[in-house]
Amino acid sequence: MAPSIVIDPGHGGYDSGAQFEGRKEKDDVLRLALAVGELLKERGYTVYYTRTTDTYDSPLEKARIANETNGDYFISFHRNSSPRPNTYQGVESLVYEENEVVNAIANGINRQLEQVGIENLGIEERPGLVVLRRTKREENTISFDDLTVDMGSRKVYRGGEKINLTPKEYALLEVLITHRNLALSREKLISMVWTYDYEGDTRTVDVHIQQLRQKLGLKDRIKTIYKVGYRLEL
Ligand SMILES: [Zn+2]
Repeated sequence: MAPSIVIDPGHGGYDSGAQFEGRKEKDDVLRLALAVGELLKERGYTVYYTRTTDTYDSPLEKARIANETNGDYFISFHRNSSPRPNTYQGVESLVYEENEVVNAIANGINRQLEQVGIENLGIEERPGLVVLRRTKREENTISFDDLTVDMGSRKVYRGGEKINLTPKEYALLEVLITHRNLALSREKLISMVWTYDYEGDTRTVDVHIQQLRQKLGLKDRIKTIYKVGYRLEL
């Protein structure tokens, strides 16, 4: 059977998304999403939508709606804009985590659009985005030392006891785990864990790393890489 696809037209209702001279992202992406959905249905795919009208749901609510379907894949449509003309161009696919299947889909989308003249800006990992983070993925639990990290329920246990992490601390931990044994720069961590246009400084990363080291006893596991950033050694 063909896989089923959940399409999320970004924003909606009082959340217009990006705007340019009266034109609103929420309207553009809804039209695009419905058109793409029709094409997919014609080709035999089952399509679900998080919205088909101009309604608002928070990203968290959208993830919940998506999780209630039997969708195999989740894709959210967005369209950037800026008051300064020609700031944004091209197509970019943001993914929770790069892997063979995800990259095949994202590259497929990017390359098809490239063929009709749209610049291909590639794939970027953005596990900090709520709709990507909170849509269900295959269950995945990892244990090391006295820690168990359940990436399905997003809970962390130390010696059997649940440890309370802030959402950002948890997101940072998950990024370190999925990229274990790799050095990650502070800038890379910011772009992956914090939101799309976060403009805080990189010391925020240091503070969160300190918290993880302390709360989870990871002093020896999370290495500081001089002049670069951090690496979780497992
Ligand atoms: Zn958007």
